[in-house]
Amino acid sequence: MKLILIGCPGAGKGTQAKILSKHFGIAHISTGDLLREETNNKTELGLKIIDIMNSGGLVSDDIVSALLAKRIKKDDCKKGYILDGYPRNVSQAEGLNDITGGIDKVILISVEDDKIIERMAGRRSCPKCAQMYHIKYNPPKSEGICDSCGAELIQRKDDNEQTVKNRLEVYHSNTAPVIEYYRQKGLVCEFNGEGEIEKISREIINTLEQTFK
Ligand SMILES: [Zn+2]
Repeated sequence: MKLILIGCPGAGKGTQAKILSKHFGIAHISTGDLLREETNNKTELGLKIIDIMNSGGLVSDDIVSALLAKRIKKDDCKKGYILDGYPRNVSQAEGLNDITGGIDKVILISVEDDKIIERMAGRRSCPKCAQMYHIKYNPPKSEGICDSCGAELIQRKDDNEQTVKNRLEVYHSNTAPVIEYYRQKGLVCEFNGEGEIEKISREIINTLEQTFK
């Protein structure tokens, strides 16, 4: 079972990937984690990546492809894997095709931009104990104050409305061609990501179980 998970920032992609990985006994592969692992372990490639990052460059598709090719040969990928955060453009998708011998399904989790903005821009966190809140869905008992420790809640820079809007714009312009690429291959299954997490994962699991019966 070789899967790709696509969804905008704040769509709950990471959470769904974890649930699916556990349910089907397949590996959850995030390219961000792969890069971090490599640089933390200071492998030959890792040192090269550190050099590139230090000089302000972008890690090339070739490097990420090489890391992925190595990763999917590991034992925990025997039953399959779910890729989270990759590919981000069509040339990566084509490269991925060569490495994997073809993806089985692309799971697209869709959430309207307005919903994402509401979700993310409403987040507040406690700088002292890291407790998370949401001004609408999970508000503290007294406004702006942490229930657990009484500290004043803050909004992370990433959750600022304009930042969220910018990230969504980048997401749409980068991934629209990738989604189109996989749609033409008939691989895309789209799910509405606006309900409860459990309900969405049940729908995805049902679809996959029917596909891989
Ligand atoms: Zn607190």
